Amino acid sequence: MFLLLFVFILMPMGEHLAGMFPAKLFLRSSPLMVIRISMGTKAIAGGIGFAIVVLLLTMVFGRFFCGWICPMGTMIDCAGSLKKKRKVFSDTANRKISSTKFYLLGIFLILAFFKVQTAGVADPLVIMAKVVLFYIIPVLSMLFGFAYDYILQLRIPFLIFMLILGISVFIPRLWCRVLCPLGALYALVSKFALLRRVAPGCSDCKVCSTACRMGAIKDGGDYVKSECVLCMDCVYDCPENKVKFTWRES
Ligand code: SF4
Ligand code: SF4
Repeated sequence: MFLLLFVFILMPMGEHLAGMFPAKLFLRSSPLMVIRISMGTKAIAGGIGFAIVVLLLTMVFGRFFCGWICPMGTMIDCAGSLKKKRKVFSDTANRKISSTKFYLLGIFLILAFFKVQTAGVADPLVIMAKVVLFYIIPVLSMLFGFAYDYILQLRIPFLIFMLILGISVFIPRLWCRVLCPLGALYALVSKFALLRRVAPGCSDCKVCSTACRMGAIKDGGDYVKSECVLCMDCVYDCPENKVKFTWRES
């Protein structure tokens, strides 16, 4: 639904939604976008309220944006569903590869401070917006005859997008786990999330750790909260119904 909304509000025929859903709703709900613009302009970016709401919700639920809203995450999941057998890494490998995105976030912010533009190759919402505007909408307009005068262009975001999807067929959510700076920001904030996954009496059968698209479940059944995108696969896949999400005991 959010992917469709993202495409629709970027389409000319979605313009009447401008009052209800400002066209930049998704982009301005990204704290990464707001921080980047604010650092570049040395002034608080407009639309910061959306980003604050998303961050507050992340402090309550965790990386809900990555699991339920992000249009790039949705496309990545679609690509990942093409291949049923998933590549599973060891605990140690998962920890090592997932820490890469935090360094990339740091580099992204340093570059933003010096006004070096990297959003088109690193920010998932910017990449996705360019792909939608310059590829998906023109193709839809050709197929269904909308009046739309954008042409297919901007090859680099499209190539990155295709690369992300191509890798995701073989290693689910690799971009989200290893590279995404926005995901890294949400991961940092979600360490404080109130909602958490518990699996009392887990027999460590590893069904859920094999199913987890984020490699978030550790040996023994515990998990890394900052990597979980609340997809709920582990809840539904547990053969013994031991997994649930609950509010942290105070
Ligand atoms: S990690 Fe990045 S691309 Fe993946 S769902 Fe989260 S914000 Fe979107
Ligand atoms: S399978 Fe479970 S631990 Fe893994 S991302 Fe989904 S909800 Fe989180």
